[in-house]
Amino acid sequence: MKRFLLIRGAELIALLALVVIPFVITNPFALGLLTLLAIYGILLIGLDVTVGYLGQVNLGQAAFLGIGAYASGLLVAHGGFGILPALAAAFVICLMLGSLLALPALRLEGPQFALATLSFGALAVTVLNEWEDLTQGAQGLSLSRPALFGQTLDAAGFYWLCLALLVLVWLGMKNLLSSQWGRAFEALRDSPIATDAMGIGVYRHKVIAFAFGSALGGLAGGLYAFNFQYLQPHSFTYELMVILLLGVVLGGRKSLWGAVVGAAFIVLLPNLLSNPLLFRVFSVVGLLLALMAAFNDLQGRRRLRFQTLAPVVAMGLLVIGSFTVEHTEDWRKAIFALMLFSVVVGLPEGLMGYAGKALAQLFRVPAAPLPPASRLDDVVPMPGADDNDAHSALLELRDVKRHFGGVRAVDGVSMTVRAGAVHGLIGPNGSGKSTVVNVISGLYAPTSGQIALAGAELPYGSLYRAAGAGVARTFQNLQLFGELSALDNVMVALRATYKLPWPLVLLGFARGEERRAQADALALLQLVGLQDQARVKARDMTYGAQRFLEIARALGRKPRLLILDEPAAGLAHPDAQQLVEIIRRIHGRGIAIVLIEHHMDVVTALCDTVTVLDGGLVIAEGTADEVKRHPRVIEAYLGAAA
Ligand code: ADP
Ligand code: MG
Repeated sequence: MKRFLLIRGAELIALLALVVIPFVITNPFALGLLTLLAIYGILLIGLDVTVGYLGQVNLGQAAFLGIGAYASGLLVAHGGFGILPALAAAFVICLMLGSLLALPALRLEGPQFALATLSFGALAVTVLNEWEDLTQGAQGLSLSRPALFGQTLDAAGFYWLCLALLVLVWLGMKNLLSSQWGRAFEALRDSPIATDAMGIGVYRHKVIAFAFGSALGGLAGGLYAFNFQYLQPHSFTYELMVILLLGVVLGGRKSLWGAVVGAAFIVLLPNLLSNPLLFRVFSVVGLLLALMAAFNDLQGRRRLRFQTLAPVVAMGLLVIGSFTVEHTEDWRKAIFALMLFSVVVGLPEGLMGYAGKALAQLFRVPAAPLPPASRLDDVVPMPGADDNDAHSALLELRDVKRHFGGVRAVDGVSMTVRAGAVHGLIGPNGSGKSTVVNVISGLYAPTSGQIALAGAELPYGSLYRAAGAGVARTFQNLQLFGELSALDNVMVALRATYKLPWPLVLLGFARGEERRAQADALALLQLVGLQDQARVKARDMTYGAQRFLEIARALGRKPRLLILDEPAAGLAHPDAQQLVEIIRRIHGRGIAIVLIEHHMDVVTALCDTVTVLDGGLVIAEGTADEVKRHPRVIEAYLGAAA
């Protein structure tokens, strides 16, 4: 109960205050601002999905607001739609347009993605402007707010509707973000490669997230239309986009509270600009904050950094402007620019980012207790009767080649990994070992050759699809989800545990599933001896623990084939010994393992068969003792040493 109040207390108080305000304050202007707060809150929560969670610069949200507004406005004016059907339609239309834009745009990263969304925004506004038969173009579209269940909505009624929708969106987002979906969003930002390798389609998740965020923009647009009852295309141009970005960044990315704080800022902004006194107060407060931050920074390191000096200068300019400029409205863009600059440089984590940290220090909310670990047999099943054909071929490579331009990294490798075996892959540096397993696991497509797993051709060139076929791997250069806890790292891989369709996840029915996944993940952490570090962030763990965590995570896939690329690299002796023990345990559960390893003692201790590569070719194969004595192997290693 205490936990619940600590976490939810602020939400409940804020909600209660927002609900009762219309009874207390009857000032229509204030009510109008609150209505806008709810609408922009929904809009920014949607924008935060891409900007915050996916970490992409999305410049299309203003357009989705406009499309949603026009769609619901026109459906009401010409289609006779009621208010809720019109809002639902705006949501669905923007969901579809969002997917259509995301499908090509999210193949791109960084500036290309930003430009794609920017052009979409320009296109949308132009169409709204020029399609005069439908939208009445620049002249503007007037509409009237339809009734809700036969009741005409007065200002307070409409405000409550907006608030109710904001609460629904808030709760839905909260459920989504605390489910495997939210975890996948975090994971794909930390390591897209590992996310794909864990069978979570990065691209698919990004498209869905973007479409969902756009749909929220459409919903906000519908409310916007019914709020103003008059629409003009030029309300939805870049200027609004910049303000929206400012709102998300200022409020704090990856935070529902941040979105609402940002929305409050956006709502107050026009008043700020039209009221000189308010603007002066705001600028001076901003300058004082920037000075305080600079002073703090100076204490800490005795040297002023650009990050703290620049906001002081920018806010100083704003203060000078607020006392000298007569028509602040005309300087709007310059003012936004100064604020955006100060926020981006001086407050990269936004208001809620800082407040969150401070609050976390004040109230230490205890983590929810974990369930008892599952039985390992239920998580990684022992091979059953139908797997009795142990020692039959599981993985077969036939004449596999992979060239990089002129580099023949792998130049015709054939090998067979038997079911249940530990198969060593050794060879001097640069002999092609990592490339072989990168081709098997789908990171690279083979230049030529065939790969089959249990008789079926393995999907080529897709980590995601190879993972689906039963291949799991670790990486020579660790690819953990650094910001996630050890437990969450493993839970990302437990895709098979999650069966609930997303609408039910949004409604908050995923708790049971989550606990089951936690119990399963704990069992896997136990297997590698990390059960006591379940709540530790992956990037805060020791190097050895990180290596073991990658193995536990790969096992979460319940793989038929586990590939370990130099798991002992950089391990101190006790850790290396523990690694051997862990691999023995996994082997004991009947999972076939391909092990790339440099330490010959580890290879000898574990491997049934060893394949030796040199220059992208197989030069020897046999037991560890056999290959150690093989003349070509001795020659290759001696050559490498020389
Ligand atoms: P190993 O894992 O045995 O040390 P690798 O498979 O990493 O060897 O590399 C084999 C050869 O292929 C090396 O010469 C390496 O430089 C080259 N290589 C590997 N990956 C790439 C790549 N993505 N692009 C170009 N060359 C590569
Ligand atoms: Mg390698």
